[in-house]
Amino acid sequence: MLRLYDTRLREVVDIVPVKPGILSIYACGPTVYKPQHVGNLRSSLFPDLIGRVASWHGLQVRFVQNITDVGHLDEESGEDKMIAEAQRRGLSPLEIAREIEALFKADGEALGYRPAMAHPRATEYVPQMIAMTEKLIELGHAYESGGSVWYDARSFDSYGEVSNNRIDELDAGASGRLSSEEESLKRFHADWALWRGVGFTDEAVTFDSPWGRGVPGWHIECSAMSLDLLGDAIDIHTGGIDLRFPHHEDERAQSNPVAGKDVIHHWVHGEHLLSDGKKMAKSTGNVVLLSDVVERGLDPLAVRLFFLTAHYRTQSNLTWKALEDADKRLQVLRRKVAEWAESPSAPVADAYVERVVAAFDDDLSTPAALAALSELVRDPAVSPGSKFETAVKLDRLFGLDLMRHVGQPPPALPAGAREKLAERETARAAKDFATSDRLRDELAAVGVKVADTPDGQAWTLA
Ligand code: AMP
Ligand code: ZN
Repeated sequence: MLRLYDTRLREVVDIVPVKPGILSIYACGPTVYKPQHVGNLRSSLFPDLIGRVASWHGLQVRFVQNITDVGHLDEESGEDKMIAEAQRRGLSPLEIAREIEALFKADGEALGYRPAMAHPRATEYVPQMIAMTEKLIELGHAYESGGSVWYDARSFDSYGEVSNNRIDELDAGASGRLSSEEESLKRFHADWALWRGVGFTDEAVTFDSPWGRGVPGWHIECSAMSLDLLGDAIDIHTGGIDLRFPHHEDERAQSNPVAGKDVIHHWVHGEHLLSDGKKMAKSTGNVVLLSDVVERGLDPLAVRLFFLTAHYRTQSNLTWKALEDADKRLQVLRRKVAEWAESPSAPVADAYVERVVAAFDDDLSTPAALAALSELVRDPAVSPGSKFETAVKLDRLFGLDLMRHVGQPPPALPAGAREKLAERETARAAKDFATSDRLRDELAAVGVKVADTPDGQAWTLA
């Protein structure tokens, strides 16, 4: 059974679906104003892994990930991200939104993310957001002021439970910066906008509402979409760690009063990807896109393998060296699987499958799962045919397209090089490093460059 760290409960818990046999997952998706960098993309890996583990255990997965194409303010500048970028590029916000959404989906596919059941767009959910806002006013959790509607933060007793914040300790501006005109409309500094009627002039991205023309607030989007598409009892809600506050805290305060219960059963958050030791962020400029990785001749799934080498709740620092190493390791694994495929089939090595599944079940312990896979690769007691069947089965969890080279002729090598590679592998397994170094030099002399990975030797032709 899958166990995950629940941010609100602050412990690892069993994931027991509300509806037997079905696991519902809602993930906060991209704001589609600029291409998602690989940091953003890391935050979409662990919901994919949760889905894969759930499917492994026979559950039907209902996965929804939204597309924010209106209403997301930049926390530092206070500008609407979509509108500001549209002005910079001289395009309409929706033109940019559709372009970036298509890129996001293509990147997800290249990273082996299984498709979502739905990718609802904020602009197509405005009526539901308005209806929910009206309901919150009716319930006494929100108030209208100057053409905007504000959530009364103090009206929700358990505000702060997800992020461990106390409402009386929140600074003014903790929920993002607003103009002084908007700030003056609020009763309390921690209140946030459900509807914003001030400062929006672009007809194309404003909407009619009972409070006049304006735009929805960001947090209400995820409440409206998750309730509409997944119902009022959702097993798991995911997002990057930065979304704990205010986004998820506010979402919970909006959804629960409308549903009359705790809608989200488990909040699960992933840590950030760093680059140069700092959070990868568009505003910092230390961004790497998946297209940059491909331009360097690396496989996009090398990024996935690199992500898997760190636990999703730890920060991980991206370097080109680490991505290149992951790319080599992936090539090694795929070549081995193709070689094993040539041997007579043999039963799956159940002990390895159990170890890998146990690692995934244990709060998605992907480093342990990869370590078990590496042991399988090296284990002389398991026949190649059995290794093949085991790898095929486990790739449902890893998602690394390990079978890619099966049935393809092995790449051409200079005469004698294949034998030397095999000899070197044996020497390394026996820790005979003098022989392995001599063979590496001999291979280099005939144009075969060898590098070592946790799963064996990678080689390229010079
Ligand atoms: P955005 O497009 O900015 O709304 O972000 C989309 C998702 O990416 C959110 O879940 C963020 O928490 C996440 N995110 C942003 N920066 C990073 C990062 N450096 N590492 C991991 N996730 C991130
Ligand atoms: Zn969200």
